[in-house]
Amino acid sequence: MGSERAAGLAIDGGEPVRRGLLPYATQSIDDDDVAAVAAVLRSGWLTTGPEVDRFEERLAGRCGVAHAVAVSSGTAALHTAYAALGVRPGDEVIVPAMTFAATANAAVWLGARPVFADVLPDTLLVDPASVGALCSPATRLIVGVDYGGQPCDYATLGSIAEEHGAALAADACHSLGGAAAGRPCGSLAAVSALSFHPVKHIAAGEGGAAVTDDADTAAFMRRFRNHGIGSDHRQRAERGSWFYEMTDLGLNYRLSDLQCALASSQLARLDGFLTRRRAIAAAYREAFADLPAVVPLVEAPGVDHAYHLFVVRLPRERWSVDRGQVFAALRAEGIGVNVHYVPVHLHPYYRATFGTGPGRCPVAEAAYEEIVSLPMFPAMTDADVADVVAAVRKVAAAYAATE
Ligand SMILES: *Cc1c(COP(=O)(O)O)cnc(C)c1O
Repeated sequence: MGSERAAGLAIDGGEPVRRGLLPYATQSIDDDDVAAVAAVLRSGWLTTGPEVDRFEERLAGRCGVAHAVAVSSGTAALHTAYAALGVRPGDEVIVPAMTFAATANAAVWLGARPVFADVLPDTLLVDPASVGALCSPATRLIVGVDYGGQPCDYATLGSIAEEHGAALAADACHSLGGAAAGRPCGSLAAVSALSFHPVKHIAAGEGGAAVTDDADTAAFMRRFRNHGIGSDHRQRAERGSWFYEMTDLGLNYRLSDLQCALASSQLARLDGFLTRRRAIAAAYREAFADLPAVVPLVEAPGVDHAYHLFVVRLPRERWSVDRGQVFAALRAEGIGVNVHYVPVHLHPYYRATFGTGPGRCPVAEAAYEEIVSLPMFPAMTDADVADVVAAVRKVAAAYAATE
């Protein structure tokens, strides 16, 4: 147990920076959150009660739009949004390659073909030039993804969509609380999808929402989450009527009162969460400023970044090992790093079903080989941040490229 061994990488049997894995993300639940859920359990409404309305109203206000439709997940929100924007069998839906598979899967469930656009190397946000080049008469919808928590260029995407008679949606599952030029995420496209999975900005257990300024779109989405039926159980109970009509084909994508109460309580804490996420990001940027082997993604000017993720690139020429080895070494040091994402067009399902594969989105494919997501969640302490920095510096020193 000499000092030489203590200084060695944990993956080689040395002392780890920390014992027990620091996760890359996790929820923050306080006593108010617990009390909010307990109150619903005692209230008599477990689902589709007053907490849904309350949460939707608060969420719409926060997103700067007139309507929020709470649904059972971010995935359900995407499906609901695309259906509301008129995606039908045979349509094409343009999505960035660098996203979670659900962004593309929702199009497939509607019978459409996802078309994968490339991203910009410094932000990994969708490249509008790539989107423009992929537009065709079949393009029904363009979807922006606020990768990592900063809004993509909706102004440019919007003009491209308009030129081609397509709609514009936002996968804003990373960006609740972010903004572009002072306009909140959620208000930057015709419909925006949010997720309340525990790793996201606010937790509902599972949950999501589709938000929009358009009343007809919102009405469609309310029916879509409830089997395509225009009235819900509570409205019928209040009217004393059994009659209802199913006018569209929908699903059960409802979010329960239990989940909405938790989400409302969490939403009240969002500003504090964002402040902490931004402070952690600033600490990481400062700590890696002198380390050319660790390059944080760029924060675009004029943007309020919501920092769902803190992603760094590990330029291949700066390292003597590949990203997989760096990842394993950081995990061995007790740092729960992750990788977001495998470019969607490289997944076996898409290769087999749509004939996609390497070469379609070279920027996203090259980035995928170099990216790592560092731990980022509001409950991280300064000591946790210092552990991440120490582990990254230790691994970078051990695996520096020799010229
Ligand atoms: C989390 C996420 C989703 C899906 O959200 P769920 O609530 O897990 O269904 C979709 N798109 C992106 C970019 C996400 O990060």
